[in-house]
Amino acid sequence: MSLIVAAAFAFYTDVVVHAAAGDPAALPAATTWEHLIDQAKAAGLPTAFLRRIPADFVTLEFDDLHAYAAEYHPEDHRLVLNQTLSFNAAGGFLKPLSNLAPREVGTLYHELFHAYMDVIVSNAGSSAQSRHLADFADDRRQCRYQHVMITPILQRKTSTEVRFLTDRESWEALNETWAVFIGWAIWTTVEARRDPTKRRARDSVIRAQFRARLAKADREGDLVGYYEPEQDEERAIARKRYLASSHRITPSEVRILMTDVLEFPQLEAEHVAKSMEQRRVLLPGAPSCRLDGDDAASPP
Ligand SMILES: [Zn+2]
Repeated sequence: MSLIVAAAFAFYTDVVVHAAAGDPAALPAATTWEHLIDQAKAAGLPTAFLRRIPADFVTLEFDDLHAYAAEYHPEDHRLVLNQTLSFNAAGGFLKPLSNLAPREVGTLYHELFHAYMDVIVSNAGSSAQSRHLADFADDRRQCRYQHVMITPILQRKTSTEVRFLTDRESWEALNETWAVFIGWAIWTTVEARRDPTKRRARDSVIRAQFRARLAKADREGDLVGYYEPEQDEERAIARKRYLASSHRITPSEVRILMTDVLEFPQLEAEHVAKSMEQRRVLLPGAPSCRLDGDDAASPP
């Protein structure tokens, strides 16, 4: 059963009043979205990209999702959160972000990033930052996510095959890869901030730890996306295809996402991107990237 809760992110008292009235639309969408942003801000998390999403663009719901903490459905701009993220698992309203596990906050941001990318493709947001990310995404989709290598068996990372993706598949592969990075970055940041041994640590120590963890995640090929194949024969074999580590997120993508979405200063974002492997595989026939660096390509 899907329970639509317009007041999902409202304060406790608001929800009790409106839920009792049996009117899920009692709170205007703008108020709900504002509460989510207020909570994220109170938790010291990035909010500028959320403010570029029009308040009435996304519908928030709770549901019993079994496997996932959250899902985003671009076809009707719906953000569905697992009931376990709601207070007392009652599906009424979101727990304060400080009560969510770091991994859950990461998942929430993964899905919020999908909402932002949805705004970008829907042309619902018209800020200079949104246009910059839209242009960059369009370029990367063609030069990095159309000719790709996949791992047919997820557990065997060294066994790869080449694929040429359709426009929809390549957009999904890019969107997922970037959302995986955003979720990972938020998870890692929240975890470091809550670490009692790091509580007195200077920011520079936490930033150094972030870079070290990124270097490791990059080296181990953790930051990869997936797509759902369009062709029936391919779908019959696998509902999802995961990109190979050769097509994991690149340093320039990380740099742009850190400044445009995660609100890192330019110099720090460059520093972070330098902690990654710089050279990336370029498959024959793939066009070169036009915008913001080419991620120094080398033949496979
Ligand atoms: Zn996703």
